[in-house]
Amino acid sequence: MATKKTPQRPSPVPPKCGPCNGTGEVARTIRVGRKRRTVGQQAGICLACFGTGEATD
Ligand SMILES: [Zn+2]
Repeated sequence: MATKKTPQRPSPVPPKCGPCNGTGEVARTIRVGRKRRTVGQQAGICLACFGTGEATD
């Protein structure tokens, strides 16, 4: 199986990640207790881009 080589051509504008809108962070809902009561939100790392803010394909 041949591996696909990535061309060495940097894109001028990296595509923005959708879920975090390019910020690399997303708001996470914080829940506590067995009833999962929502106590607020906290910024967390975006799992779609792993904090880079750039969309991956
Ligand atoms: Zn993201």
